[in-house]
Amino acid sequence: MAQHAFFYNQIRCNGCKTCEMACKDYHDLPAERTYNRVFEYEGTGGWSTDEAGCPVPSGLFAYFVQQSCNHCDDPACTNACPTGACSKDAETGIVSIDPDVCNGSGACIDACPYAAPVMNPETKKATKCDGCVARLKEGQLPICVEACPQRALTCGDASSVPEGYERANVAPLPDPGKTSPNFYVLASKSAQLFDSAQGRVSNLSEVE
Ligand code: SF4
Ligand code: SF4
Repeated sequence: MAQHAFFYNQIRCNGCKTCEMACKDYHDLPAERTYNRVFEYEGTGGWSTDEAGCPVPSGLFAYFVQQSCNHCDDPACTNACPTGACSKDAETGIVSIDPDVCNGSGACIDACPYAAPVMNPETKKATKCDGCVARLKEGQLPICVEACPQRALTCGDASSVPEGYERANVAPLPDPGKTSPNFYVLASKSAQLFDSAQGRVSNLSEVE
């Protein structure tokens, strides 16, 4: 089985959020709903003093983390879904939600540690990133990948992870051991491991 994976070059990402805007436009999402988010993460250590009494920065850093659905190997969403509406495709590994089968319980939303599924208040069905499967079938890239002006996002098969990329072990993402996400990161030198308590999300109002 192939497994769709996103490869994210965090060193190249400048936080422009073109990926998020392109996704919202392509899926015709309202302002308050998104399938694609960019976390702004910063260290807030402050300043210390060196031997000469000069202030030096300590624990100060900033970086971005782009996220959509990670089409996990062990998807908590499909495991929680009571109707089978949320399922993982055997051929591509893409996890998607069938709106005709979804009963709107929100179990996938509660279960996903990445907050990828969201409720559509009009249809009262859960919805999320489907890896732009319709585009993939036409030989096109997911819209977020195509739109990224920095070429920070690519995608491919999880059996061909580019050298230096590691499996989603970066704050503020959760423990990648929970669901084995197919999101691989070439980490910036500022990046903190998932369980680091050294920083905070500085754009919470955008990503919550
Ligand atoms: S990121 Fe969340 S919604 Fe996507 S496959 Fe993993 S558990 Fe499911
Ligand atoms: S479009 Fe590319 S550079 Fe801009 S935030 Fe998204 S991943 Fe980063």
